[in-house]
Amino acid sequence: MPVRPEKTKFKTEVRGRVYYFCSEYCKRRFFERPRIAYFSMEVGIKSEIPTYSGGLGVLAGDTIRSSADLRVPLTAVTLVSRKGYLKQKLTEEGEQLEYPDEWDPSKYMSLLPQTVRVRIDGREVKVGAWIYEHQSVTGGVVFILFLDTDIEGNAPEDRRITDVLYGGDERYRLKQEIVLGIGGVRMLKALDVNVAKYHMNEGHSSLLTLELLKENDMDEDKVKNLCVFTTHTPVEAAFDKFSYDLVQELLGDEYPLEVLKRHGGQDRLNMTLLALNLSKYTNGVTKEHMEYSRKLFPGYHIMSVTNGVHSYTWTSPYFRHLFDRYIPGWANEPELLVRVGIIPDEELWEAHVKAKEALLKFVKDETGVEMEVDALTLGFARRATSYKRATLIFSEIDKLRELNGFGKIQLVFAGKAHPRDLEGKRTIKEIYKYMRMLKGEIKIVYLENYNMEVAAKLTSGVDVWLNTPLPPLEASGTSGMKAAHNGVINFSVLDGWWIEGCIEGVTGWSIGPPPNERIEETKRREMELEDLYNKLKYLIIPTFYDRRDEWVNMMNNSIGKVAYYFNSHRMIRRYVTEAYLL
Ligand SMILES: *Cc1c(COP(=O)(O)O)cnc(C)c1O
Repeated sequence: MPVRPEKTKFKTEVRGRVYYFCSEYCKRRFFERPRIAYFSMEVGIKSEIPTYSGGLGVLAGDTIRSSADLRVPLTAVTLVSRKGYLKQKLTEEGEQLEYPDEWDPSKYMSLLPQTVRVRIDGREVKVGAWIYEHQSVTGGVVFILFLDTDIEGNAPEDRRITDVLYGGDERYRLKQEIVLGIGGVRMLKALDVNVAKYHMNEGHSSLLTLELLKENDMDEDKVKNLCVFTTHTPVEAAFDKFSYDLVQELLGDEYPLEVLKRHGGQDRLNMTLLALNLSKYTNGVTKEHMEYSRKLFPGYHIMSVTNGVHSYTWTSPYFRHLFDRYIPGWANEPELLVRVGIIPDEELWEAHVKAKEALLKFVKDETGVEMEVDALTLGFARRATSYKRATLIFSEIDKLRELNGFGKIQLVFAGKAHPRDLEGKRTIKEIYKYMRMLKGEIKIVYLENYNMEVAAKLTSGVDVWLNTPLPPLEASGTSGMKAAHNGVINFSVLDGWWIEGCIEGVTGWSIGPPPNERIEETKRREMELEDLYNKLKYLIIPTFYDRRDEWVNMMNNSIGKVAYYFNSHRMIRRYVTEAYLL
């Protein structure tokens, strides 16, 4: 209910901030109502807080943003990652140089007085928490707890546990997961948060189930009732696994090994399996990923909630303005984007051109390269890792040259490789090689230090968003959804979310065979390259240059048939009705 601060007598001060309420009842409810505790190793709440590496963290951020907008009582738990993930610089040759992305939590959040203890490697490690308040314009608030072990009294080694996101070896990783899962549950308890459900965003936090077992007299049903698990990985090899020797060495005997093995697997502790066995509700992040997960874990009840992106965050100022004028209320009810048809074509195109000009200016400032606003611009940006196949479009250079003769194209790339992902780093160098090879013919740039800010510019400023992962490895993917919010048209392999989003020639174009086609790798690649070059040459280039009406019609469909559904407001409402209220 709207409250006039000067009129209400129901208020309270928490951590130096005053909260106003309309009644004693509302005030009590704010503090005592049951909450969803949302655990995520990475959270992308904004570019200045670099505690994310890619889609998983951005999804967590979008979940938080939508929950705040919709006033879903959710509290997030993550690690403070004081040195971030990495800051990327690239040499002339495309060699990735990595620097710590250090940030100062005290600039954005406040340190809570409470600390809890976890046992790691035979030592008591103190865990503190920073509290960040994400405030929605609708009045909703979501708190994020950033757990921190850099606390006076901890051994120097332990103070570094919450430094680097996905840094160090597996020993370091397990320590982080102990802090996140076990430390997180203890911190919520110390803060008297009334937790209705623990939602594990990926398996990194699944040690929390052990702590919950302990709290609930080892009653597995009780714990299952408390837990919700979202898996994000479609391959067995990518699940976090730890040897029981290491687990015992670090965790000690606080939790019976027999229980761990029963739920987490006999050979090694599989974090996905542990979460799966102790959650009543488990979901994949697209329908296809659900099917895949069911095959990986036969006999388990696995559902799906297809990912979405936070509409307001990922819509450029130019389109926000347009939507505000023609579709008021769209930001908190993105379904309304289905009415995009009432926006005149010229205005839609104009907004797109402005977003494109803003991107090209950014490209010029960053790289010195002057791209052309009239040229068909393709974007490709995501974590640089091999299954995403950033270089697929360069597979047949002559064909690329040929279609560029048909209608000019230009390419914008970005993406960081994990420091230990040598193949990912090689991919960046290869793109640099092609950049040099095609110099003077096709304008290509690689933007440094891909982050949320760069992502917002890129996904709104290009004409076509290219996506060429190797199926079935892209469980969902979300950057194409950002593009769709800005009338940018997707051209993508049928994997992850695009299987649900693509209507060929209507919402965008597909690359390669339909999903689930039993096909050998060389044949698949052949079909993909054929689509990639032929559709560019015979469909995409001619539509862009010669049939602008048709192009704008597809931009319309990107918004009205894709963005209206693939947003995190729809996603979080489904989590509420299907998982949280279960
Ligand atoms: C949205 C986003 C991603 C996810 O991109 P995918 O296409 O889903 O891989 C990764 N990194 C950043 C910075 C993003 O904003």
